[in-house]
Amino acid sequence: RETLDELALHVRDISYEDIGGLSREIREIREMIEVPLRHPELFSRLGINPPRGVLLHGPPGTGKTLIARAVAGETDANFISISGPEIVSKFYGESEQRLRQIFDEASKAAPSIIFIDEIDSIAPKREEVSGDLERRVVAQILSLMDGLSSRGEVIVIAATNRPNALDPAIRRGGRFDREIEIGIPNRNGRLEVLYVHTRGMPLDESLDLMEIADSTHGFVGADLYALCKEAAMRTLERALPDLDVKEDIPLDVLDNLNVTREDFLSALKKIEPSAMREVFVEV
Ligand code: ATP
Repeated sequence: RETLDELALHVRDISYEDIGGLSREIREIREMIEVPLRHPELFSRLGINPPRGVLLHGPPGTGKTLIARAVAGETDANFISISGPEIVSKFYGESEQRLRQIFDEASKAAPSIIFIDEIDSIAPKREEVSGDLERRVVAQILSLMDGLSSRGEVIVIAATNRPNALDPAIRRGGRFDREIEIGIPNRNGRLEVLYVHTRGMPLDESLDLMEIADSTHGFVGADLYALCKEAAMRTLERALPDLDVKEDIPLDVLDNLNVTREDFLSALKKIEPSAMREVFVEV
């Protein structure tokens, strides 16, 4: 059986700088999570309880996991990441026990952030599930949320692409009562994601990232990341035929290895947006 140590990712290397766009969303999440974790006294002074649960919703690949990891990294909180589908399938029959164990260990190791990806598989609408076991898992997560101390030392961030598939009780006061939508990026958001993922790349003068941002309508963060990697692979493919890979690569070759506009345009022929294409995106 996995221990907390095996579950906890080492996330100190992820920061807000690694997230492109989403500055409003990051600000909101910092207010909800970072402030109570760092300064619980502000909340107790004001006589209010910090949030226990925050729900991030939006299409796949838009940065929900990234945001959760960045908050944990920046607050030095323990980060325990679980996947909804895994809890219900891999631990089938033991899902409730598994959830209790995770919440228990997070409390012991507080301050902690528990990240539940695809929470819709743990907490679907109860009237729509057929099995008794599934209903018990929903009841378990509700009761674990209610049992969290109101001091805000354990905060649960959950992510879903299907907020409307959730049991309504999960979104009520004291549970996941704060929601942040992480949407498909507009042109400016895409540009910022491109900046993040080309930060470590040598870029040729021919390349104007604004042009790439303009040509990637409907791309989410994960698609843009794939695009940047693919473009760099094209650069490599261009260079390879002239190289003897058994020998050291000459310095001048390394110095001249730049990712060009053509590399990006060629990568664009291969990488397509994965997100729901019919969704209207503001540009
Ligand atoms: P899922 O619902 O599929 O879990 P998600 O919204 O949690 O999707 P992430 O796992 O955060 O998406 O994103 C996958 C990868 O895509 C990230 O590791 C990162 O490389 C890239 N990415 C996604 N969004 C962004 C963003 N806003 N800025 C920079 N990179 C991003």
